[in-house]
Amino acid sequence: MSGEESLKLDNFLTLRDPSTRRRMHSVSVGMTQNQMYQTLIKPFLTDAKTFVLDTLFPVQCLRCGIEGRFVCPRCLSELGRLEFQHCIVCQKQSIGGFTHPGCLTPHCADGLISILNYHDESVADILIKGKYNFLPGVYEELGRFLAREITAGYSHFAKASWDKPSSVSCRP
Ligand SMILES: [Zn+2]
Ligand SMILES: [Zn+2]
Repeated sequence: MSGEESLKLDNFLTLRDPSTRRRMHSVSVGMTQNQMYQTLIKPFLTDAKTFVLDTLFPVQCLRCGIEGRFVCPRCLSELGRLEFQHCIVCQKQSIGGFTHPGCLTPHCADGLISILNYHDESVADILIKGKYNFLPGVYEELGRFLAREITAGYSHFAKASWDKPSSVSCRP
C-alpha cells in the first residue's frame, strides 16, 4: 500500500467513526443537532404555526373585538377592580389581603390578593369565554397583568411571602 493510499484509508476510517463525524459536524456549525433544533428550527416552526393560526383566526379582544390581543390595553384598564381585599378565611375586609391573625390556622394561607372583581360583567365574560373556547392565551395575558399589579401595589405582601421561608428554620 502506498503512502497516499494509506492516508486515504486513515481518513476514511476516521470519518466512519460516528463520534468523530458528530464532533466534526458540531465544530463546523458550532452547535449540536439538538441545540440547532431548539434554537433555530423549533422557534421557526412555532412562529410559523402562530402566523398561520393568527392569519386564519386573528386574535381579537374578547371585550371590544379589536385585533391584536385577547384583552386590549384599553379594556384591561377598564375592567372592574376590587376596592378592598378580604381575609381568605372569614371573607371580611383585610388590609393588604393578609389573613387575620385570629383566623390563621397552621395550614391556612397567609393571605390572598384579588385584583379583578368577578362580579364585573366584563371580567366574568372574559374568563368564561377563555375557558369555554379553550384559549390559554387569555390567562397568559391576564396573568402578566396581575403580576404587574401585584408587584406594583402589593410589594409588601410579596416581600413578606418571600421573606417567610427564610425565617423558618429546618435545623434541629
Ligand atoms: Zn378591547
Ligand atoms: Zn379573617
